Amino acid sequence: MLLLLGIDDHDSHFGGCTTYVAYKLIHELLKENLNIIPLPALVRLNPYIPFKTRGNAAVRIVIDVKDISEKDFIEHIREIVDKYREKRGKADPGIAVTLVDNLEKLKILYKVYKKAVTDVITSDQIDKICRKLNIYIHGGRGKIGAVACLGFIPDRDSTFELLAYGDPSIKKNIDLNIQIFSLLDNLFRLYTFANIDLENEKILIFPSGPDPVIYGVRGDSPLHVIFLSSLVQAIAKIDIEGWLLFHTNQATGIHLEYSENIMRTFNPYKTIVKIIKISRTEDRHLQCFTEKDPNVFSYRHIGDPCTFLEKSLGDIVEVWGGLRIKDGKYFIYVEGCRKLSRRLVKVLNPRCPRCGSTLKSLGKGKGFFCKRCNIEITNVHKILNDEPMISSGLISLPYLSEFRHLMKIPDRIGIERFSNMFSELDIPMWII
Ligand code: ATP
Repeated sequence: MLLLLGIDDHDSHFGGCTTYVAYKLIHELLKENLNIIPLPALVRLNPYIPFKTRGNAAVRIVIDVKDISEKDFIEHIREIVDKYREKRGKADPGIAVTLVDNLEKLKILYKVYKKAVTDVITSDQIDKICRKLNIYIHGGRGKIGAVACLGFIPDRDSTFELLAYGDPSIKKNIDLNIQIFSLLDNLFRLYTFANIDLENEKILIFPSGPDPVIYGVRGDSPLHVIFLSSLVQAIAKIDIEGWLLFHTNQATGIHLEYSENIMRTFNPYKTIVKIIKISRTEDRHLQCFTEKDPNVFSYRHIGDPCTFLEKSLGDIVEVWGGLRIKDGKYFIYVEGCRKLSRRLVKVLNPRCPRCGSTLKSLGKGKGFFCKRCNIEITNVHKILNDEPMISSGLISLPYLSEFRHLMKIPDRIGIERFSNMFSELDIPMWII
């Protein structure tokens, strides 16, 4: 029978990483001859949750078990993860364990997963679900993510990420030539993604920070992800401890797809607004005020959306991102936007007050002439015609380096579910 194991919140701003704890845990369980089903899932949850350390990630591991007591098993897991989890800072780890003993349980877990990606779940709600479904949990707030990730199904879309681990102190010495890496990126394009931010000439696979993730390669083909990782390893001569390949929901945009679009703080949200006023905050971030909530906020460093929105006064714009309340008003913190209309402002000659035909100008400041009435008219002015007009629907997105984990990478449009072509059981070297 299959057993689902979820872990979350084992890291803090001081270091550590839930995925690293999963990596160590899987190694230990393999040593105990437990039958781990490849691949573990790296599940990103609501990107707007305020208590996350970085990317709001939880990890699910599936194990094929014979007779097992979930109660004893969770105790065993707790002992192992305690050795590897970050003990400084705000980590509030959680573990969840349950047997896949009925379909109804999986259906409910799937709903919990979708809610955790798009909304806020309370500890009480999780406790209630666990009582109902016979899920064993341990720990603090991390139990929310630990339970939610159990329901991950790569239904609409999914991707892969290989994370290589090692001593965080080696990060500062890594030297990978950007020209060589850019060549590799070209060769592996479509099968791997978000390796490099060409606009800012920045390699994106090396995260900074005190955690043990040395590099991460993402893609739609697990085989190409492994191959590119091996090349990076060989070329940059990085001394890693090992790596783990995950199946993930990253770069799929499902937080917006699953979203029920409820205007609530911390929810992903997509809507159409008309921008009526624009201002900058003290820190030069952009605020766009609309006819009614939500308003729109764009951090100045994210790239194009900030300038794009600044030029959208009076326009109708589709915006998506996460909701927060600021100064008593809802704001969408922008992930992307698309112009739906732009103003067409024309300066027109006025009409004749007697016959209504369009007047002819006699030159600047010299008044107008009506051909039909054969008279000169001086006390009229040119008129501004301000009409909304459909625009080409141009989309504006941040720099690739500013993408949150769940945001859909533009290169992936059209290749959703390509990942389904690979049997997870046939992937070599998924853990080393
Ligand atoms: P890392 O990326 O290194 O794993 P993190 O960014 O994932 O760090 P966590 O330390 O896991 O951050 O903190 C996120 C916390 O938020 C966890 O305790 C998790 O249980 C909780 N959480 C996640 N999603 C939701 C949600 N939708 N509603 C309420 N709590 C949530």
